[in-house]
Amino acid sequence: MELHLYNTLTRKKERFEPLHPPLVGLYVCGPTVYGDAHLGHARPAITFDVLFRYLRGAGYRVRYVRNITDVGHLVDDADEGEDKIARAAKLKALEPMEIAQHYTIGYHRNMEQLNTLPPSIEPLASGHILEQQEMVQKILANGFAYESQGSVYFDVKRYHRHHGYGTLSGRNIDELESNTRTLDGQEEKRDPLDFALWKKAAPGHVMRWSSPWGEGFPGWHLECSCMSRKYLGETFDIHGGGIDLLFPHHECEIAQGIAAHGHASVRYWMHNNMITINGQKMGKSKGNFITLDQLFSGEHALLDQAYSPMTVRFFILQAHYRSPLDFSNDALKAAGKGLERLLAAIDTLDQLSPAGETGTDEVETLARECRAAIDDDLNTPVLLAHLFEGTRLIHSAAAGTRALGAKALERLRGLYRETVFDLLGLQKERTDNRSRLLDSVIDVLMNLRQTARQNRDWATSDRIRDELKKAGIVIKDTKDGYEWHAGNNE
Ligand code: ZN
Repeated sequence: MELHLYNTLTRKKERFEPLHPPLVGLYVCGPTVYGDAHLGHARPAITFDVLFRYLRGAGYRVRYVRNITDVGHLVDDADEGEDKIARAAKLKALEPMEIAQHYTIGYHRNMEQLNTLPPSIEPLASGHILEQQEMVQKILANGFAYESQGSVYFDVKRYHRHHGYGTLSGRNIDELESNTRTLDGQEEKRDPLDFALWKKAAPGHVMRWSSPWGEGFPGWHLECSCMSRKYLGETFDIHGGGIDLLFPHHECEIAQGIAAHGHASVRYWMHNNMITINGQKMGKSKGNFITLDQLFSGEHALLDQAYSPMTVRFFILQAHYRSPLDFSNDALKAAGKGLERLLAAIDTLDQLSPAGETGTDEVETLARECRAAIDDDLNTPVLLAHLFEGTRLIHSAAAGTRALGAKALERLRGLYRETVFDLLGLQKERTDNRSRLLDSVIDVLMNLRQTARQNRDWATSDRIRDELKKAGIVIKDTKDGYEWHAGNNE
């Protein structure tokens, strides 16, 4: 294996060597489960899925840990405001764990649609309260935290004097200080840069656990430090996540780990860049917030049409994971066409018959170029460009202007299968026989509904729509007729 990865910590590409081969430890920050999975969730999931597939393909046993944040992530991402999950629960009059469960199931469904492989371990923050308390105690004992009115805060300045804070994000502590609001004297923190390891639960706060410091809950950054150590050991290979987590989340993770154990635990830090929408950051307040269900169904004001999960996957793979990626209908439509061309070429390749004994060198060169691209910090856009170059060879062979011998053909088929399906995780959309049958059954029902409407039999027409919805099929009327998609059968 000649894999080189860009390490955010050293700011350069480094050759990747696992610490304890054949085992590779991979930790990726997972979702906070208080809302539907959206476009922003798809990118880290797909990026690290490709890395997971690559390492497995190279013969390693990968322990891939991706957490579920179900407690402690507060609304303002720092130490103030309500817990995100508790707030969603209050709005819907549900238990916080009902919210977490509901959105975890939805997240898993979307991840499966995107054909990402499930992680080896998916630990919950709420299932590791004891471990988090133990870590707080270690940090306290080492003098890098202090208790204040039932909460425990990390002492950033003291840590900085000993170990240097900001090594991952490159942020300078003096600048951070001038950009942070000053304390108003009422706060529990000694310094505005300090962050919560444990927060005292206010009256009415639902998710609370007893602790040596009174009833409370863990700070958001703590869970990843604890759970990565628990499942991957004191030092492990790769920690990944979106670049939005670089600061403060990952910076705090590093500080917590060193403050508790005296050494850094992560060898390679990897960060995927963000997805923007028509050039803008995605945000609920901007009306450009698109969930994956909406993307797959086309039900959003910004969407011209539905986009299949594989189109979305292909779209994400067309950009390097460290580059920003701008979503637009045009870009998605182009991705859909590109994917179709690639899959059609593979179909053609499957049908080719060998001719002569030539082509082996050319196929070997192509295979080497593909390998070099993915080895170069998972450069999927360059890899795809080589695969498209290869389709010219396939089409020439199909047209009879080039001859490919049996050996070359076998190698070429293996290359496309291993790269497109196994490594990039693309798959043919499920237009199998059963789904074609389902299409025609829905057509029959929709024709019945149309007749009912013409007869002004609204009861029957509504009933057909409602019963389909109960069965998990959502109908959307369009100007040319109707569309359907699988939805929540709530
Ligand atoms: Zn994390």
